[in-house]
Amino acid sequence: MTALDRDVPLARLTTIGTGGPARALARPQSLPELVAALRLAREEALGVFVVGLGSNVLASDEGLDALVVRLEGELASVSVAEDVLEAGGGATNAVCLHRARGAGLGGFEFACAIPGTAGGGAFMNAGAYGSDWSEVLVRALVVTADGEEWRSPEALGLEYRHSALASGEVVARVEYRLVPRSPDEIKATVADLVARRKDTQPTNKRTFGSVFKNPPGDVGAGQILELCGLKGHGIGGAMISPKHANFIENAGGATTEDCLALMTEARRRAREEFGVELQREVVFAGIPELPALT
Ligand SMILES: Cc1cc2nc3c(=O)[nH]c(=O)nc-3n(C[C@H](O)[C@H](O)[C@H](O)COP(=O)(O)OP(=O)(O)OC[C@H]3O[C@@H](n4cnc5c(N)ncnc54)[C@H](O)[C@@H]3O)c2cc1C
Repeated sequence: MTALDRDVPLARLTTIGTGGPARALARPQSLPELVAALRLAREEALGVFVVGLGSNVLASDEGLDALVVRLEGELASVSVAEDVLEAGGGATNAVCLHRARGAGLGGFEFACAIPGTAGGGAFMNAGAYGSDWSEVLVRALVVTADGEEWRSPEALGLEYRHSALASGEVVARVEYRLVPRSPDEIKATVADLVARRKDTQPTNKRTFGSVFKNPPGDVGAGQILELCGLKGHGIGGAMISPKHANFIENAGGATTEDCLALMTEARRRAREEFGVELQREVVFAGIPELPALT
């Protein structure tokens, strides 16, 4: 097994750039190394937290008393066979999309502005522009300290920004079924989607993506928070994005505590002014749930 790194700040492993030290960080390069890391965590009675690009994670300022696992090497590799793209759980969406385009395979363009990995996408059932992981995923290889099994999207329990994957279950590989499409057509679609993103979302700031899930109905979480007058509202170094109110930006020196204070205030205002109880989309690591709305 590769050596463990100790006390690596989670601020370095998350896109928002906050979070204290992880007790240990394993960076397995292969399936046997992954299983060895998971077995070690079990022997030491340590929880396991997998991190992809940390693009939807908010981690405690106090750090995380767990083994953090980041998949690398073979576990982040990508290959294409006919209309199936196979990717390691740690493969980035950007690399998958690049390989798909090179092979003349479309269907993954929706992920062009989702800055995560194959495993993170499966865990979150990430999606955009009317599509999500459940639309392209054929199966995922789920690994634990006890063994491995391939699961279908149904067995993964994929719903809106949710899967039924349990803590300590690691998506080590995925297979996507794509459709023949010309590289030029893919390139044009991606350019259009990226331009739309840049117009509406803070793509060049440190954020963790959408803070809250969109509630049922036609009005999104961002619109509700904008109508509450929260755009540009700041606490400490964290600020509700002036561009899109469902994003929190690290405006400089933000802590996780600052982000949590903003989330708590945003939920309170949405409830008071619109009677809506917003549910978080961002994953908490080492943080208790937000205070209940009274
Ligand atoms: C600018 C920006 C834009 C975004 N836009 C979108 C969007 O349009 N749509 C959308 O859905 N999301 C969006 N996100 C959120 C985020 O990019 C997605 O949720 C992404 O799929 C998370 O992937 P990740 O690899 O970074 O996972 P992480 O953020 O590292 O982890 C997220 C969760 O997945 C788990 N996880 C990660 N890897 C694995 C694995 N291999 N096995 C098991 N569990 C794993 C983690 O433990 C954690 O619970 C955006 C984020 C940012 C910063």
